[in-house]
Amino acid sequence: MRSQNRIHKAEKLINPVSHIKKIFVEQGVADLPYTQEILKRAATIPVEIINGHYVPGLDANQYPRNLTKGKQNLLLCRNLGHFFKPCPATREYRCCDYQVINIGLNCPMDCVYCILQAYLNNPWLSFFVNVDDLLRELEAAFAKNPDRFWRIGTGEFTDSMALDQLTGLSQVLVPFIGRQSRAVLELKTKSAAIANLQGLDHQDRTIVAWSLNSQPIMREEELRTATLDERLQAAAQCAAWGYRLAFHFDPIIDHPGWQEGYATTIKELFRQVPSDKIAWISLGALRFLPPLKQIANSRFPKSRFFSEEFIVGLDGKHRYFRSRRVDLYQHLYRLLKPLADPKTCIYLCMESDEIWREVMGFAPEDHGSLAVMLERAVF
Ligand code: SF4
Repeated sequence: MRSQNRIHKAEKLINPVSHIKKIFVEQGVADLPYTQEILKRAATIPVEIINGHYVPGLDANQYPRNLTKGKQNLLLCRNLGHFFKPCPATREYRCCDYQVINIGLNCPMDCVYCILQAYLNNPWLSFFVNVDDLLRELEAAFAKNPDRFWRIGTGEFTDSMALDQLTGLSQVLVPFIGRQSRAVLELKTKSAAIANLQGLDHQDRTIVAWSLNSQPIMREEELRTATLDERLQAAAQCAAWGYRLAFHFDPIIDHPGWQEGYATTIKELFRQVPSDKIAWISLGALRFLPPLKQIANSRFPKSRFFSEEFIVGLDGKHRYFRSRRVDLYQHLYRLLKPLADPKTCIYLCMESDEIWREVMGFAPEDHGSLAVMLERAVF
């Protein structure tokens, strides 16, 4: 009971939905029962029905200057494209064969390094309410490849749980994936907004995941996100509800005191969360598309970490020099390995075989592939 109270207090403090000042609804979806459900939950947030895709008062031509204001406005609309596609990984590095469900765009939280600042081209948040189309698309993909193992995430173009208390999407997706025999859903977040996950028939097919970082980075570079304690308390609560967990140290950022910062986070992780519930832990050093640096510097002029030296990787993204990346990874891996459950898959996100061997002593192919390693960690 005590831990329940703590979770509810955390949600009251950092529920990202509280940042939304206005909801816009595309006229064509206004009468959908799911839209109406969301508007009922929105209670006191003002609502405006609009024609078309553009939120009035937020000029897409002024992006990203109006991104801070844009994050206070949510558009409920129809996804006219595909919901389900492979993660936009790059051929040059080891990827994990992830599939992405595009549930919406943009995020009410605001991380200095967020790649979405450079990917998106309008400032508001979008959430796609034609969820029946999404489920139909998933069913068709599963039926077409019945033997394939599907690892699916919703956190590619938004945070998986940031709007969940408004949208209730987890209550649809988690039981749906629970009914599939060859799929797992990963819900990745920096919030502690997990209340909707309680009591769902997840069938051990949903993995709730948090991005973690050194606390100075979490405090200074991840605005409106949950604190380390709030994230770990939420994770412990999900474990108590029977969910398996995952953690992503991504982006690992070189900053003064980084060794101690990451060591403290890792110590706290294993102090607060049962290690045998952790399916996987990923490590990924900071990488970014060149335009992100300029956007982030203009929005967050006090941030310093983009001023380090970087090389341009084979995928066109800026990264730390190889020796620096190896230093960062080796430090975290040495701390994680003795504390992690032997079944937990610790992996590098978007790195070459050479770096894998230097850090871990093997490459994914030695164990089948990264996708196989992750599949084994779940089944
Ligand atoms: S929580 Fe994720 S999606 Fe949201 S701003 Fe931060 S990095 Fe971007």
